[in-house]
Amino acid sequence: LMGDDGVPRATVFAEMSALAARTGAVNLGQGFPDVDGPASVAQAAADAIAAGANQYPPGPGIPALREAVSEHQSSHYGLTWDPDREVLVTAGATEALAATVLALAGPGDEVLTLEPFYDSYAAVVALAGATHTTAPLVATADGFRLDLDALAAAFTPRTRLVLVNTPHNPTGTVLTRVELAAIARLAVEHDAVVVTDEVYEHLVLDGSASAHVPIATLPGMAERTLTISSAGKTFSFTGWKIGWVTGPEALVTAVRTVKQFLTYVNGAPFQPAVAFALRDPGVATWVVELARSLSRRRDLLCAGLEDAGFTVVRPQGTYFVLADAAPLGYTDGVTLCRDLPGLAGVVGVPVTAFTHAGSGVDRALRSWVRFTFVKRDEVLTQAVAGLHRLH
Ligand code: PMP
Ligand code: GLN
Repeated sequence: LMGDDGVPRATVFAEMSALAARTGAVNLGQGFPDVDGPASVAQAAADAIAAGANQYPPGPGIPALREAVSEHQSSHYGLTWDPDREVLVTAGATEALAATVLALAGPGDEVLTLEPFYDSYAAVVALAGATHTTAPLVATADGFRLDLDALAAAFTPRTRLVLVNTPHNPTGTVLTRVELAAIARLAVEHDAVVVTDEVYEHLVLDGSASAHVPIATLPGMAERTLTISSAGKTFSFTGWKIGWVTGPEALVTAVRTVKQFLTYVNGAPFQPAVAFALRDPGVATWVVELARSLSRRRDLLCAGLEDAGFTVVRPQGTYFVLADAAPLGYTDGVTLCRDLPGLAGVVGVPVTAFTHAGSGVDRALRSWVRFTFVKRDEVLTQAVAGLHRLH
C-alpha cells in the first residue's frame, strides 16, 4: 500500500480525478457516468428518507433488497439463493471484495486473479497477508483473451481463491464459456473457492460474441462460488455504494462475519431504492437502453482514438477501452497520463495501474492507457478533438 518512494499511495482514480479537477481537462479516467440513473430510483431513495429509513438497517441488508437480489439471480441466471441465508448486502462491490478476501484467505494462501486486474484486488490481498498470483489476458484480434496454458500454470497447491472478473475492468473482455470452463475445471481440481466480480453484468455491448455468463452457473460451481455485484454500474448511481454477495450459506456467513466489523451496515435509504430498481420493469428497460447507448459511445471513442493514432482493442463489455499510445511515439503510459491534460486536455488512466510492476503483462501494456466512455457524446467529442493534437 506504499508507493516506491515510501509515501502512502493514493488510488490511481483519486490521483487522476484530482488531476482533471486541477487542469480542467476532460476526465475519461475514473469510471463514473456524467448522467445519473433513473429519476424513479432517485425518488425511491428520497421517499425512503422521508419515510424514516434513516437508522441502522439489519446486518445482512433489508429483507426487500435481499429478496430482490435473490429474484434477480434466479430470473436472469437460474441461480437460486435463499434471501435469508445466502445473500449479503455490502457497501458496494468494494467492501464485498474486501470482506470476502479477508474472510477466506490469509498468510500462506494464494489468491489468483486475471492480469490486468482491478486495483483494489491487489490491495485487499495484501491486507489479508495472502500472496497475489495472476494469469494474463493477452491482446489478440479477438480482444484480450485468457492465456489458458498460463492459467493452468498459475494454479498451485496453495491457490485458495480464484478471483474472476467478467465483464472485465480494465480490458472490457467478456469471458467466454470456454475460458470460464477452464477456470472452473482448475478450481475444482485444486479445491479453490471462486469469487466472481460481476459489477458490469448488464453492460455487455453490441457485437460481443458472448453474453455474460456467471461462472456460478457452470456445472459444480454454485457450491464453491461467491458472486459479487452492485448497483453502481447497472443503475448509474456509483456514489450509493450498495453491493451484494450471493453464494452457499457457509461462505456467505464467513463474509458477513468480516463485513460486520468493516462497516457493520450501510446505506439504509439506498437499500429500498435499489430493491425497487432491481424489480421495476421500467428500470429494466432503462438498463437495456444504457447498454445500447454505451455501444454507440464505445464506437464513437474507439473511432476517435484510432483516428488520433492509437491502437485500440474494442471492448465487449464495461465502459472502458484500452488504447496503445506506442504508435504515437509514447512508450510510458504513466508519463503520458501526467502530460495528457496539457497535451490534449484529457485525463486517462495508465494501464500499469492494473498490473504487477515488472510482470509480463506490465511490460506488454506499458504504453497503454484506459479511457472511459460513460460520458455524454459532446464530452467524448471534445476529448477526441483534444487527442488529435497528439499527432
Ligand atoms: N469491481 C470492479 C471491476 C469495478 O470496476 C468496480 C468499480 N466500480 C468495483 C468493483 C467497485 O464497485 P462499487 O462501486 O460497487 O464498490
Ligand atoms: N470502478 C471505477 C473505475 O475503475 C471507479 C473506481 C474507483 O473510483 N475506485 O474507474
